Amino acid sequence: MSHDPTHTGQARYAWREVDRAEQPKRAAAERITDFHEIYSLFDEATIREQASRCVQCISPACVTGCPLCNRIPEWVSLAAEGRFLEAAEISRATSNMPEICPRVCPQERLCEGACVIHAPEEPVCIGAIEKFISEYALAHGAVPAIRATPNGRRVAVIGAGPGGLACADELSKLGYGITVFESQLLPGGLLLFGIPAFKLGKEVVERRVNILRQQGVEFKVGVTVGKDISLAQLLKDFSAIYLGIGALKARPLDVAGTDLQGVIQGLPFLAQKNAPISLGLPPVEVKGRRVVVLGGGDSAMDCLRTAIRCDAADTVCAYRRDLANMPGSRKEYANALEEGARFVFLTNPLALEGNANGEVTAVRCVRMELGEPDASGRRKPRAVAGSEFTLQANLVLIAYGFDPVPFPKDSDLSQLATNDWGAIKVDEHQRTNVERVFAGGDVVRGPSLVVHAVRDGRKAADSIHRDLSEPSPVPAA
Ligand code: SF4
Ligand code: SF4
Repeated sequence: MSHDPTHTGQARYAWREVDRAEQPKRAAAERITDFHEIYSLFDEATIREQASRCVQCISPACVTGCPLCNRIPEWVSLAAEGRFLEAAEISRATSNMPEICPRVCPQERLCEGACVIHAPEEPVCIGAIEKFISEYALAHGAVPAIRATPNGRRVAVIGAGPGGLACADELSKLGYGITVFESQLLPGGLLLFGIPAFKLGKEVVERRVNILRQQGVEFKVGVTVGKDISLAQLLKDFSAIYLGIGALKARPLDVAGTDLQGVIQGLPFLAQKNAPISLGLPPVEVKGRRVVVLGGGDSAMDCLRTAIRCDAADTVCAYRRDLANMPGSRKEYANALEEGARFVFLTNPLALEGNANGEVTAVRCVRMELGEPDASGRRKPRAVAGSEFTLQANLVLIAYGFDPVPFPKDSDLSQLATNDWGAIKVDEHQRTNVERVFAGGDVVRGPSLVVHAVRDGRKAADSIHRDLSEPSPVPAA
């Protein structure tokens, strides 16, 4: 295969002639000195060339692989012709944040993993093309804030994370008056407080929120629904409610020693180090410490890479399965490795050890081996007898995932039906058991991807619009 820098993308189906290119990435030695995004955009010629690799499948598997069913072949084709603004317009039709999703989607498991070129060759770089056309449109002032004629109805969105923002966007474009209630002091949810800026710049999230503000969406921050305002009050003031409040209750580490100093949950650690404002969380000293991260998901990768940027002496990830069965994105795993993280696979903690001052000093571990696949399809790990060993650590970060926070018993949110692990039950239209209350995202499905939250928010907006448009006794609020 050859690279011709003068290639302009007009020749289609060029996957045999053009290698897949990876997005320009800053060198690891440079990027670990700051929290800025590590990837930059391709130039126009490279985008056209990369887009020309697509064979324009009649039944495009990439679309099926994208949770938003993005119209990928259409905008890839336009990108190959250099018609970037038209491409971006089509991408916006199915996504409320096409500049954000490609920054955080694990494409290898979604659109690019499904691309038909994948296997004989490398897939079309769909994520990089989507990001490029979206940034191009934003830079050219071609992403208008759509001010629809008010339809007289008001909808409350609870939670300003990706699902809440997507729902607010969809409904405001239909003329609904939208108020977004957010318990933090800035809108953005996990996009702002959970995902590190080296993956998703804070200014990218703020820019998207500002488009919604220009669209007329009102944000009420520092308001906790169920505490500062009741569900009953919201149902009085609004025609419908969307709950996109996430899942923030950390799954515990069930071994001795978790009360030692220097043992903390991954999410508060990430929030403390990444939030653009002070959250009043206790400081966590990382410089010069030996950090052990427990877990194998994207939060674990984020903890490792954040600790490296905070000058940890050593960062080790201990995960109970092997690399093939690790849930974290391969892209983020590779980035963590490049930045100096070490991985100890097939390793489970047995206890955390401390010194006389009550500070953690080590993680006692046991080697694991993989047995038969469990219900999730992944092979179940089991301990190898007599294989115990110790990892030195003076900061242990637990990144085992999250469950929804239970509603306070005295809150009227507790009338919402939940399942065994506290997730809100919804029907296929995102409706809860309480009339006019809808829910989606992590509070329904457990910790998942940004793109899944966006899909739920869009689906709920569609259901809300349909329900409120039908002749019914629901009063206008
Ligand atoms: Fe791929 Fe995610 Fe974009 Fe869908 S939203 S096309 S999965 S990067
Ligand atoms: Fe193009 Fe791949 Fe999608 Fe086919 S599956 S339309 S080659 S991006």
